[in-house]
Amino acid sequence: MRAVIAKNKSVEVVDIPIPTGPGTRLRVTNAGICGSDLHILEWGINDIVLGHEFGGVDDAGTLWAVRPKSSCGTCDACERDLEHLCRDATKDMNGISAQGGLAEEIIVPSDRLIPVPSTVRASEVGLVEPLAVVVHGLRRGQVEAGMKAAVVGGGSIGLLTAAALRHRGIDVDVYARHEHQRLAAERIGATAHASDERPLAVNDVVFDAVCTQDSFEASISACRPSGTVVEFGMFWSPVAMSNEVMFKEITIVPSLYYSHDHSHDDFVDAAHVLGDSPDLADSVVTHRFTLEEAVDAFRVAADRKAGSIKVHINP
Ligand SMILES: [Zn+2]
Ligand SMILES: [Zn+2]
Repeated sequence: MRAVIAKNKSVEVVDIPIPTGPGTRLRVTNAGICGSDLHILEWGINDIVLGHEFGGVDDAGTLWAVRPKSSCGTCDACERDLEHLCRDATKDMNGISAQGGLAEEIIVPSDRLIPVPSTVRASEVGLVEPLAVVVHGLRRGQVEAGMKAAVVGGGSIGLLTAAALRHRGIDVDVYARHEHQRLAAERIGATAHASDERPLAVNDVVFDAVCTQDSFEASISACRPSGTVVEFGMFWSPVAMSNEVMFKEITIVPSLYYSHDHSHDDFVDAAHVLGDSPDLADSVVTHRFTLEEAVDAFRVAADRKAGSIKVHINP
C-alpha cells in the first residue's frame, strides 16, 4: 500500500507492506498535516509513516476518529488519571513512533477508536485530533459561560479554539498575522484583529496558540488582572516573563494533548464540536490533496504565506 514517510527533512510517498496484527483495521479517509509534523521533519527523523491527525472506516463501514497515543497505565501520572502526562506518552504514538495515518490503511489498538456523530464527514474526521487539543485547553482554562475570551494566533489551533469557544456561546477576539486567517476567524464567528493591534486588557481567559515571545507578551497584555493565559502546544524556544505577569497576578496554564477519565473525554467532546459545526472544515481546511500529492501538501503546509491554515490529505 502507499504511505507517506519522513525522509531527509522532507517526505516521500512509498510502497510499504499492508499492516497486520491485533487491533482494528481502518481504511484512512482523511489525515491532517500538523505544525509538529514540520518540526519533527526538521529534527531529521527518517522512515516513519507520518500522521497523528486522522480517522477512517473499519471493515463494517463505521467511521472512527483515532486518539493516536496510549499510556503505560502504571506510572505516577497514569495512576492519577492523567494518562496524557504519562512518561511513555509518545513511546507508541501514531505518526511519531508508530505507523501514522498518512497511509491507505492502518491497524490501531481498539481503545484508540473514538466514535463520531453521524454529521461528521469521512473527509474531515482528521480535525477531531486538533479539536481535542483545543477542547482540553478550554477545560484547562476553566472556561465558563459569560466569560470574555481572546485567542492570539490565527493558525489552525487558534482558529479551532475560536470555533470551540463560539460553540459554547462565548464571544472571542482573534489576533492573527495574515489576512486569510482573519477572514477565516470572522467566518467562524469571532472578531478578528491584526496581530500588531494592541489588545485591551479585558479578557478573562486568553489562549496563546503560537507560544513565542511575541505571542506570549500579546496574551499577557490581553489578559485582565487575575485572569488566565493558556499556553497551547510547545515553546520551541524559551520564553521570558516580565513583571506584567506579577502586577496582574495572571495564572499561566500549560495545556498539552488531551485527557480522558471516568468523567470526561476530550476526544469525544471534540467529535461533537465538529459534528455540530458543519461549516468548520470549510473555514479552516484551506488545501486538500491526495496521498500521491503529499510532497506538495507538505510544501504548502510549511508556507504560511501560501495562504494555508490546515492542509488535509484524503488517502
Ligand atoms: Zn498535531
Ligand atoms: Zn504512564
